[in-house]
Formats: sequence, structure tokens, C-alpha cells
Amino acid sequence: SSDRVFNFAAGPATLPENVLLKAQEELYNWRGSGMSVMEMSHRGKEFLSIIQKAESDLRTLLNISSEYSVLFLQGGATTQFAAVPLNLCKPDDVVDYVITGSWGDKAFKEAAKYCKPKSIWSGKSEKYTKIPSFDALEQTPGAKYLHICANETIHGVEFKDYPKPADENTLLVADMSSNFCSKPVDVTKFGVIYAGAQKNVGPSGVTIVIVRSDLIGNAQPITPVMLDYKIHADNNSLYNTPPCYGIYMCGLVFEDLIAQGGLSEVEKKNAKKASILYDAIDGSKGFYWCPVEKSVRSLMNVPFTLAKPELEAEFVKEASMEKMVQLKGHRSVGGMRASIYNAMPLAGVEKLVSFMKDFQARHD
Ligand code: PMP
Repeated sequence: SSDRVFNFAAGPATLPENVLLKAQEELYNWRGSGMSVMEMSHRGKEFLSIIQKAESDLRTLLNISSEYSVLFLQGGATTQFAAVPLNLCKPDDVVDYVITGSWGDKAFKEAAKYCKPKSIWSGKSEKYTKIPSFDALEQTPGAKYLHICANETIHGVEFKDYPKPADENTLLVADMSSNFCSKPVDVTKFGVIYAGAQKNVGPSGVTIVIVRSDLIGNAQPITPVMLDYKIHADNNSLYNTPPCYGIYMCGLVFEDLIAQGGLSEVEKKNAKKASILYDAIDGSKGFYWCPVEKSVRSLMNVPFTLAKPELEAEFVKEASMEKMVQLKGHRSVGGMRASIYNAMPLAGVEKLVSFMKDFQARHD
């Protein structure tokens, strides 16, 4: 509606308007229960119905089989950087990391506390603008897992396909924080998928872990109870007090994604939004520039620079006067970044593109 801005933030990020309105409608008295979701016991039948529906809708969306457990946790994706090696490895196990951006690098560094991670490829020297060809990866025989960051939020680099571990016992593990539920994914290819909710599926405070059930139960003895997948799986994510309201919000988003026709439909919309934005950048005769190799450009986070960097502050300021906010790039890379997650409407991207053309006409 007219009093809302187009919010291009990388996360927490824009949520679907109809979801917010539904949450507003249900805030004070959830479906006749006489209380809000925030006030409910996490063990009461009302909240149990909320978390069970959220899980089953997520299973529908991603076609997750009963061989996988779905966990709703806290601590952000950052906590999973430690939880993954703690749950999957012994301290001497070797694991491989493909580092396509800052998040993959953070995951790699955290893993070094709990196992023996090896960086088998890093895009750092090319400023994280590429993804390696999978054939060229020198995977470690016997590696416990191969870790990727499916979409690097800061650099805008996204895997379009996934590497197959060379060793059949090596698990594929992915941080999908910033492209979770933006497109269909073949979950069966993965041992673990994890994601913070606050980009595509809800508010911050909820972290979703999808883990193959047979991998659960082998955590290192030092693993804090809150990081042990077995504890959470055995207790249906209710070992301790979960982020109840956040899980409720995720559930509303999942319902909305199903109502849109599921993730194939959502992917089509995302592809359309991304293509008009990248086309505008590429068609600007160098006024705007996206450094990422075309074949791996993210559908979610679109970084770009201006040929005249001195105009960047003006760009951000004028855009914000036109109700398009949070376009400044991450402090580590500068420039601009438009995050266009599921909930960013096509109209928001169209407005941005038209603003970009107008800005160029005035400043070229
Ligand atoms: N991985 C990726 C790809 C991210 O984008 C982020 C957050 N921006 C994180 C991990 C860290 O997530 P959190 O803040 O939920 O710990």
C-alpha cells in the first residue's frame, strides 16, 4: 500500500504484504484462542498446530521426504557454521569447503574449531565473482562433507546447479540462507541444508535445518545441547522454548508460497524480476556495472556499482526519497545492492529500473 516503501534490504527483508496483514488481523486474538501467538505456551495444542502446519507446508514446498528431519532452531545460520561440523564430524575428520563469498569463508573458519576443513576453492582473489566448474574441484577423498553457500548474499553469486561429491560417502551441505524457498531444490542431493529465515521466509530468530535423519545422533561429545540435532529432532524442535512467533510467521509465508503455486511458480517470478534488473544494468553502457560472471548471477541479491562512484550517495538518497530503501551495498564491498527476495513485488523492481534510467539520464 502507499504508506509502505520498497525495501531492498538483504535481511531482515521485506515480507509479503498479505502475510503482514494476516498477522496483524490475528495478532490480538489468534483464531479465537483469546491470546496472541506470542503469549501461547509452546506446548499447548494451539502452538503445536502452528509448528506442525509450518513443517508440513515446508515439506510440501520443497518436497522433503520422511527420510529428512526438519528443525526450527535459533542462533541464525552463524550457529550452524559450528553445528554442522559438530554434528557430522569427529575432530580429525577432513571436510571440504568451496568458498564463493564471505559467508562461505566464515563457515570455513568456524569449522576449523571442530574438524579439519580444507578450502578446495576460493573466489577471493577474483573478489568473489565466480563459481568454479565442478570438474576442476580437487575434492579430498574421504571428506566427510562438501560445504557450499548456495547464494552469497553480499557478492550476489549463486549456484545454479550443485556439485556432486566425488566420494559417494561425502555429504553435500549447503547454507541456503539467502535463496531458501526461492526455487525448487532437490533435497535428496544434500545431507544438510540450513538457512536463516530472515530473507525469504520470515523474521530473524528462526533458523531452519533440513537434515537427513540417518546422520543424526553422532554429535561430538563437546556439542552444546542446543546445537545437537538429535536433541531437537527427538523433541520436534520443542526441547526448549522455540522462537514461537517467528515460526508462526514462517508458517504464514509457507502458506502464501503454496497459494502462489509452489516454488516453480515463485522461481519464474524471481527470474523475471532479476532479468529486468540485470538487463537494465547491462544495457546502461557502463553507467551501472555488475561484476558477477553472468552465468552465476544471483536471482536474490543484485550488486552493482556506478562508473562514477561519487554519485553513489546521491543515488541512494534520491532512491530513498522515492520510497526505495536499503540499496547501499554491504560495507565490505561498497556500491549498491538490490535484494529482491520472493516478497519483493515486480512493481518494486520496475520502479527501481525506471528510477535507474532516469538517474542516468540526469547524471550521464
Ligand atoms: N549465510 C548467509 C548466506 C547469509 O546471508 C547470512 C546473513 N546475512 C548468514 C549466513 C548469517 O546468518 P545469521 O545472521 O542468521 O546468523
